[in-house]
Amino acid sequence: MMRSGLGYDLHRLEPGRKLVLGGVEVPSDKGPVGHSDGDVLSHAICDALLGAAGLGDIGMHFPDDDPQWKGAASLLFLEHVRKLLDGRGLHIAHIDAVVVLERPRLGPHFPAMRQKLAATLGISPEQINLKAKTSEGTGAIGRSEAIAAYAIATLES
Ligand code: MG
Repeated sequence: MMRSGLGYDLHRLEPGRKLVLGGVEVPSDKGPVGHSDGDVLSHAICDALLGAAGLGDIGMHFPDDDPQWKGAASLLFLEHVRKLLDGRGLHIAHIDAVVVLERPRLGPHFPAMRQKLAATLGISPEQINLKAKTSEGTGAIGRSEAIAAYAIATLES
């Protein structure tokens, strides 16, 4: 059986914070504000995987008022979700994601992100596709006040 799930996340950006995406630090003058490391790509993928598995959402599994997750590397969330999937005999067939941000350009960092995400999820980098879009200068993302990500995951059992 094949099942798909959709994930979305957005974080505010502020100067002087680290920009971590897919577990990789990307040089940037701004980074996300968040309880964890604010890795929107990992959060969107988490929600896509949980959605496909019928297991709710990231907030249910990793509450943002839980001190355990303060400053947490979001790859830990993915590791936990991987265990939930393993326990149910669900296998990741494919993940596709889009990060929406004005700058910097992410293309050069995608290979490292795919490696890291794949290693964390126990799949091959070929099973993960990453894309980036700007907001053409419009809205909060266009003004570099926010960063967002969308992901879709397909599971097979
Ligand atoms: Mg988030």
